[in-house]
Amino acid sequence: MKNAIKIGEPQAFIYAENEDTSEWKEDNFSSHEEYKPLSFKMKETILDTIGHTPLVKMNKIPQSEGIKCEFLAKCEYFNPSGAVKDRISLRMVADAEKAGKIKPGDTLIEATCGNTGIGLALVAAMKGYRMIVTTPSKTSREKIAIMRSLGAEVIVTSTSACDDPESHISIAKKMEKEIPRSYFLSEYSNHSNPLAHYDTTAEELLEQCDGKIDYIFAGSGTGGTISGIGHKFKEKIPQCKIIGVDPYGSVLALPEKLNEGKVGTFSDEGTGHDYVPKTLDRTVVDQWIKINDKESFYMTRRLVKEEGLLCGGSSGQVVAAALQYAKENSLGEGVRCVVILGDTIRNYTTEILNDAWMRRNGYMSLNSLSDPKHSLFCVSWEKLELKESKTVKKDVTFDEVSKLMAQGFSYFPVIHKEKILGYISEHSFMHQVINEKKTKDDSVGSAIIKEVQIVIMLSLLFLIALSHVGFQRS
Ligand code: PMP
Repeated sequence: MKNAIKIGEPQAFIYAENEDTSEWKEDNFSSHEEYKPLSFKMKETILDTIGHTPLVKMNKIPQSEGIKCEFLAKCEYFNPSGAVKDRISLRMVADAEKAGKIKPGDTLIEATCGNTGIGLALVAAMKGYRMIVTTPSKTSREKIAIMRSLGAEVIVTSTSACDDPESHISIAKKMEKEIPRSYFLSEYSNHSNPLAHYDTTAEELLEQCDGKIDYIFAGSGTGGTISGIGHKFKEKIPQCKIIGVDPYGSVLALPEKLNEGKVGTFSDEGTGHDYVPKTLDRTVVDQWIKINDKESFYMTRRLVKEEGLLCGGSSGQVVAAALQYAKENSLGEGVRCVVILGDTIRNYTTEILNDAWMRRNGYMSLNSLSDPKHSLFCVSWEKLELKESKTVKKDVTFDEVSKLMAQGFSYFPVIHKEKILGYISEHSFMHQVINEKKTKDDSVGSAIIKEVQIVIMLSLLFLIALSHVGFQRS
């Protein structure tokens, strides 16, 4: 800068004479794209952005499975809080206000697996309500953190059956009795829930497809989505088949004999139940498909990676089931299937996107070498040319470990009383040095990662050795 400019002086409004380092020159910036005018203008509040979510063609996964029919994804994770539940949150509050049941300043209560809690916390924050959410302990940490950040008071309950006095639903009911001017919205019995989908989600689909849809696949939690969409389609396009997707361990599917397995044994949040909610009308569902968590979470990861659809576990569940249905029924060219993607993968970064969580819960094998697509699949031990791993004792110092690292090792199994206690990685080591200010004579105990799932010592050493191959510095 040639001239210093003081804020407040008239010259402050004249551009500083910076040296021109920008590449903004005609030649570099001559190929423009045509601007497509917005179909919408400024919104009054964030609540006005709920709905009107995109419908996007899937271009890779169905094709890679040899499926010929068309798959369109209704991206409900484009809603402002990242889930389909924004629609019913706004509608339930608006209808209760219209009926004179609530007014700003009152307390709203909801029992939810998370997404309705987030949607309602958003609506409550914008409209000026106190928000209390009760949620089962299986709800992801991310969802709980978001609800709290929106100002909601979150009570985490046991993940017990709904009629158990300790369940999130029983506790919400109890709180409504105890707190003056409070109102339990109860998405499981509130008619505004399916109505929101009848009036908006279904209408959007009809408009986006010009009325040409052959199959709609949706999961069911409260059943609001599938019942609302189902009713509208039975009226407008009765030949369109509505297919419900239900995890094993849930009892929503019909015929009953499909619901084999122990009730309540699924991890997916948001869909499946141990009882049939009032908001689910199974008369509009033509067929049900059961699916397990492992397939659902695997497909979720594929949707993110291969289609760029940043959706959550219930979306993977619906797509995995829909693809299975398309294959089994040989749905061919010209058939159009819509899958409803319920929420965002950002709700599950510590779970579905976390390899350690996936392995711990049995959704991923201990190492990716069991994947035939892995470049090291079936490669013999000799060919891997592994170096012997260096093990360390638990009271070794940072100084000693750093010397081993200098020899090119990045992972060290930690041995205590002839057992593997865990391991130290380059990352855990650096974290302690940089963030926790450890010095060279401190013991590395704090850097030991104990979460590693040690099934057998051999497999751990194998993993460590492989990581070593991958991470060894040149
Ligand atoms: N997907 C996700 C992620 C959800 O949170 C929910 C609702 N709990 C659903 C799907 C199913 O929606 P509905 O409650 O309308 O059946």
